[in-house]
Amino acid sequence: MSVGAAAEERWSAGDAAARSAVDAAAARATSSGFESTSRNDRARWLETLADALEADRSALVAVAHRETHLSEARLDGEVTRTASQLRFFAGVAREGSYLEATLDSPDLTTVPPRPDLRRMLRPIGPVAVFTASNFPFAFSVLGNDTASALAAGCPVVVKAHPGHPELSRRTTDLAVAALARAGAPEGVLSLVEGVEEGVALVEHPSIAAVGFTGSVRGGRALFDLACARPRPIPFYGELGSINPVVVTAAAAWERAAELASGLVGSFTRDGGQYCTKPGLVFVPVGSGFEDALAGVLADAPVQRLLTDGMSDAFAQRSAELARRSDAEVIGTVRAEDAGAGTGAGAGTGAAAAGSAPVVIIVDAPSFLSSHEEFLTECFGPLTVVVRYAGDAELAASIGVLEGSLTATIQHALEEDVAALAGALSRIAGRVVFNGWPTGVAIAWAQHHGGAWPATTASVHSSVGATAIRRFLTPVAYQDAPVSALPAELRDGNPLGIPRREDGALRV
Ligand code: NAP
Repeated sequence: MSVGAAAEERWSAGDAAARSAVDAAAARATSSGFESTSRNDRARWLETLADALEADRSALVAVAHRETHLSEARLDGEVTRTASQLRFFAGVAREGSYLEATLDSPDLTTVPPRPDLRRMLRPIGPVAVFTASNFPFAFSVLGNDTASALAAGCPVVVKAHPGHPELSRRTTDLAVAALARAGAPEGVLSLVEGVEEGVALVEHPSIAAVGFTGSVRGGRALFDLACARPRPIPFYGELGSINPVVVTAAAAWERAAELASGLVGSFTRDGGQYCTKPGLVFVPVGSGFEDALAGVLADAPVQRLLTDGMSDAFAQRSAELARRSDAEVIGTVRAEDAGAGTGAGAGTGAAAAGSAPVVIIVDAPSFLSSHEEFLTECFGPLTVVVRYAGDAELAASIGVLEGSLTATIQHALEEDVAALAGALSRIAGRVVFNGWPTGVAIAWAQHHGGAWPATTASVHSSVGATAIRRFLTPVAYQDAPVSALPAELRDGNPLGIPRREDGALRV
């Protein structure tokens, strides 16, 4: 059986209703002709989407606030961020270096002889985007994955997150209307909802790549599906993360109170519902850091979590850690059997009362003997403080860490932390010095990835200019007639993009 026939057979065996919704969206994407549109047009459409989002800001924020319980101020800032991301990827598309346009002139004197070779990246095809619960704008319908895929020339089918369904529909409606007004092809952006629809989307023969933001468990299940397809496709999963922080002895003696305050601000921000939340903090024994922490934590905010299910999971996980005989606890752990009350949005019950921040403290030997438990992400306002006695214990603890989106070093100004930075850069995609990892700037040099379990493929990630690279695939033209060449590869560089010509970079 051919790969195509196998794909069709597997596809036909799925849930009928889910299949038909996904089929319709995938057909619209495939027939949109989006990959043939110009970079300038795509840049304009991305800017149109940014304008449309901002124009509907207050109504969207109100819906998001009701569905996610995040504060209106935070959500308002997130709309601004999302519009900036869309405009950023418009700039990336216009500038054109992402195409990696490379030309080699023919040379019959080389062994083997070299023909005329011209290589660039082209759109991979329709992309499925699984949106995140904790960023209802910035990692949702018009978030990083969608913006970078559209910039690349790939139509997008979004799988809505069930944590903000109305917001997802409303954002899609305004985006589709704005794209139509700006003259973009029909079918460039669609929305599907439901678990079965998500599965069907990953398995659909027309889908060429997946962008996913969510849990390790969910991401792993869908990643395995993508690999098990008759024609496997790339799956870019951005998953949970522990984000270790190392406080050096010199830093702890110098500014324990300031660091404790910074840590609480970072790990409790918006209920600790960040993939970049510092979830593991190494502090030197006897530094007084824990006392400073206890003082600050008493004033930290209690936040209702995104969903009642997350609230229950948080209560259960924090209770498990707090029950350990080798753990000390700062804060109040909710009884895990208290239940969420009357369900999402009902406004009563333990979940509605909010989740209070918790700090779990253990010594390094305990951490080392149970590191798998401590390295499992607890989504919500909890962090684990590990007391280390000397360099050997710290090195052993760093030695068991897994891949993470970030790692942070809090150090004294004149301290040499090169070796520590070297060790942490092997496990983390971004190393932060004397700061906190929670904020993720949008920039050309940004990297928001890391080895498994932070991501499924750590080379490129959803934040930063190289996000576009995930939805592109290379093609080399050999001795091609000029009519068969994209304008970006023609003699004389008619579109004026950065190119590498016979080995030399020309900007
Ligand atoms: P989640 O439970 O994994 O859900 C994410 C999406 O995947 C949802 O649309 C969900 O749909 C779908 N899904 C999950 N399991 C599935 C399965 N087995 N089959 C089909 N669909 C499935 O994630 P979450 O709890 O909403 O998000 C919190 C997590 O996201 C945290 O771990 C956080 O660290 C991580 N996160 C990571 C980043 C990053 O950039 N690395 C950013 C934000 C958040 P249904 O619910 O409809 O099944």
